[in-house]
Amino acid sequence: APGGGSEMQVVLGLGTNLGDREANLARALDALERLEGTQIVKLSNLYETEPFDVISQQEDYLNCCVLLETSLKPQRLLEHCLEIEQSLGRVRLEYHGARTMDIDILLCEGFSSDTPQLTVPHPHIRERAFVLVPLSDLFPLHSAFGYAFHEAYEAVDKAGVRLYK
Ligand code: ADP
Ligand code: MG
Repeated sequence: APGGGSEMQVVLGLGTNLGDREANLARALDALERLEGTQIVKLSNLYETEPFDVISQQEDYLNCCVLLETSLKPQRLLEHCLEIEQSLGRVRLEYHGARTMDIDILLCEGFSSDTPQLTVPHPHIRERAFVLVPLSDLFPLHSAFGYAFHEAYEAVDKAGVRLYK
């Protein structure tokens, strides 16, 4: 949606493994696009990925990354992301439990933060194939706002990440 103010590019990582996963992603992307001062610039492919670091049996995830341009401050954008998760019916039951929607802020142009509420760059980008593979669609040269991930991309085990559409 249109808005005033200075624009910043932001990369989000989305994941869902409950219910109609494609519909969940579509609804989340639609909600992001409707945020004040926010436009979707580019969307990665969708990937089907095996659950990672979980304590119970779970369905495969659908993951993607999206490049946004927004005039929202990162903290405000995060609040909106958590609201969108909730509006899609997310309940936090267990650590890394199944979820209808997880939206993480991966990278923000010219911004970093190191608090538990908001850690940017996201601390686990370099070890997660389900992030690095779609991120590579958005940044084929493996550098995003000066954040270089080529070595991590080459090193990570991508066997559990399949192109979905
Ligand atoms: P996870 O994504 O690790 O499975 P959650 O989605 O339940 O965990 O997020 C828990 C908290 O992580 C959120 O309340 C949020 O404040 C915090 N958080 C810290 N940094 C970030 C970030 N870069 N993106 C999204 N959430 C973050
Ligand atoms: Mg999250």
